[in-house]
Amino acid sequence: MISHAEACALIEAPAPALDELLRRAGEERDRGRGRTTTFSAKVFVPLTTLCRDDCGYCTFRRDPGEPGARTLLPEEVIALCQAGAKLGAKEALFSLGDRPEARFPEHREFLRRRGHRTTLAYLREVCEATLRESGLLPHANPGLMGERDLARLREVNVSMGLMLETVSERLLGPGMAHANAPDKVPARRLKTLELAGKLSIPFTTGILIGIGETPRERVDALYAIRDLHERYGHVQEVIVQNFRAKPRIPMRDAPEPALDDLLRTLAVARLVLGPDVNLQAPPNLSPRTFPRLLAAGLNDWGGVSPLTLDHINPEKPWPLLPELRRATEAEGFVLRERLAIYPEFARRPEFLDETLRPRVAALTGADGLVKESHEHWRRW
Ligand code: SF4
Repeated sequence: MISHAEACALIEAPAPALDELLRRAGEERDRGRGRTTTFSAKVFVPLTTLCRDDCGYCTFRRDPGEPGARTLLPEEVIALCQAGAKLGAKEALFSLGDRPEARFPEHREFLRRRGHRTTLAYLREVCEATLRESGLLPHANPGLMGERDLARLREVNVSMGLMLETVSERLLGPGMAHANAPDKVPARRLKTLELAGKLSIPFTTGILIGIGETPRERVDALYAIRDLHERYGHVQEVIVQNFRAKPRIPMRDAPEPALDDLLRTLAVARLVLGPDVNLQAPPNLSPRTFPRLLAAGLNDWGGVSPLTLDHINPEKPWPLLPELRRATEAEGFVLRERLAIYPEFARRPEFLDETLRPRVAALTGADGLVKESHEHWRRW
């Protein structure tokens, strides 16, 4: 793995050096992950679109009363997950705004009527119902979490996630992407990542590029993730997500990162994080570039849904699996389905609540990936 200084030099290097950088990153990926590229068949569950933050790039959040503002009821979530299960999905990805109860009395009242004081407690109830009624395996991304919430959610999630996004405190300043987002203080996000490590929760995190950070600040964020993973060994995947402009967001006129910028960052992420880490870039955010993304060292396409939109980027449809498979195989890789918990974590009992182990074991083969008999996506 490379030093911080070398990573900064590589991410700032002139354009002609890109091909050599990609070659190095591709070799590093092959050394650790081989030629298998994975994805997860999921249902996207936007549990609540209310959020106390206002990130400059967010098209997901709503205030109460706005069109699209809503909190799903357990029966709505279960209906969605059952429909997804029929199509072969295995993962229920819960995405939601951060602590809406801290800002909106209407949401506090909704929670109170359901016997909860916090959205995280409500999330736990819904994850439990999802497991019981649909069989999908929850993976929750609910924003910042304290130790108690993480421990409670761990019992009903096979993995969890929180995008670190950035470690740049500059972005909290006036006019910047996180000026109105108290939950995007980097130290608070790092704390949640650390607590997840202490509790042995397989954890997904990553960086968001193109929101005002410098290339060096991207490297700083990758190093912060690497440091935590070296201490706790719990980071199951790292996402490099590129900002996409949308009409209704404050950053609607901000430039999107160019493809070369994304490729360079992915490749540097591979070299910083090492050969074994699972590295992902969402394919729906960079259509028609799959060979280039593979060349930059990724080994996972993330969650792809047969049923639901990407509610974070609703204008970007998921690629069809046959298209993703053709593009992956054309570059000499095998496409395989994984669960929301990666094989290397599913095999280690300390990373999974004992009540969840039989469900994971029933779906996976000796290699920890989804058994061929359960790979329903081949019919999509
Ligand atoms: S990105 Fe997340 S935290 Fe920020 S406003 Fe959107 S939902 Fe809230």
